[in-house]
Amino acid sequence: MQKKKHRRPWGVFIAIVLAIIFGSWAGDQASLFGVTFYAIFDVLGTIFLNALTLVVVPLVSSSIISGISKIGNEGGFGRLGGKMFSFYIGTSLLAILIGLFFVNLIAPGTYQTAPPTTAIETQELIDLKEKLSHQEGQAFVQVLISIIPSNVLAAFSHGEMLGLIFFSLLFGYSISKIDTHPASILQGFFQGIFQTMIQVTHIIMKFLPYGVFCLVAKVFMSTGVSSLRSVGLFFITVMLGLIAFMFVGLPLLLKFIGKVQPIRHFKAMAPALVTAFSTSSSSATLPITIDCVEKRAGVSNRICSLVVPLGTSINMSGSALYECVAAMFVAQSYGIDLSFWTQFLVVTMALITSIGVAGIPSASLVAIIVILRVVGLPPEGIGLFIAVDRLLDMCRTTVNVFSDSCCAVLVAKSEGESDVLVKETF
Ligand code: ASP
Repeated sequence: MQKKKHRRPWGVFIAIVLAIIFGSWAGDQASLFGVTFYAIFDVLGTIFLNALTLVVVPLVSSSIISGISKIGNEGGFGRLGGKMFSFYIGTSLLAILIGLFFVNLIAPGTYQTAPPTTAIETQELIDLKEKLSHQEGQAFVQVLISIIPSNVLAAFSHGEMLGLIFFSLLFGYSISKIDTHPASILQGFFQGIFQTMIQVTHIIMKFLPYGVFCLVAKVFMSTGVSSLRSVGLFFITVMLGLIAFMFVGLPLLLKFIGKVQPIRHFKAMAPALVTAFSTSSSSATLPITIDCVEKRAGVSNRICSLVVPLGTSINMSGSALYECVAAMFVAQSYGIDLSFWTQFLVVTMALITSIGVAGIPSASLVAIIVILRVVGLPPEGIGLFIAVDRLLDMCRTTVNVFSDSCCAVLVAKSEGESDVLVKETF
């Protein structure tokens, strides 16, 4: 494959800063020739998101099929799976415990002056409750059922990630079991699709600064930093948890278990992290995550193709942390002192529900309502912090993506890969 030049992503950082300044200053009413900037950025941002999402199905399926057909030949599939799930669960649990530590330490809910009964019934909250009343109790079962789709074409066309991953795993594994000649033709074919989709991703990435600008400006036009005032302590608690996990917890794992330099990994993942931040969607970021993990961090296609797409669907460390802090915050606001066992239940529920959280904006809110109901708290409680959800979504999605990439590096290192993060890519 043609060698790719790694450009410095300063353009994207500048785009984020300009977008925050412009979005906060312009608000959602400023217009040009009668058309609001909000509407303009909404259209352009959606086009950029569509372009990213467009790549996901062919890229993920070809990546898994070509990666697994190699693993199937070599054996060790079970060993890889075991390591992968241990890292997913281990990192999510670590994230939740960090969140639990900060929410108990700062106790943001105890400073909440607004009586919880006045929690605003925003349209968003009403829609969520409506959605949940159809789904509740079935959410986890639905996730399980969607792993094995009855119609593979429907799963592909609806972008149902778990079904798509399952079929691709099965297909790739079966390729490794057929005769060498047809197997090598199929391997070459899917490897070709994979490399082509990576090239398509590179083309889309040329527009990254513009897409990022539109998406971030849009958020700051509608949300605005003023929303921070009402629930500033909650915001700070979540941010401290996310920062401690991303800049202390994961780097320690990279350094002592992976034996790699964490700073190199941050630099390698920079394009994916800024994309996750601006899109609030780990699924839409997936093509760029795969590109960064393979091309910049040097993880093999064999490991990346398995760990990253699966992690994007089920390993949501940042979301798990957020869910735990949010549930505890609501309990504190209602003056409910949660016992050790109830806190244990919150931790367990955050771990389980984060597996079912989709990689799309605001997906955690549904999981939080489920947790609140399970521990006997009023679901209206999410009205207390919904105003800052969008801003925190940008940050937790960045953490979700970084955590998946760390799992890929750790699994690759444990498999003896020697090219991982050996050189600077920034
Ligand atoms: N937006 C998050 C993601 O895509 C999910 C969430 O926590 O809402 O990873």
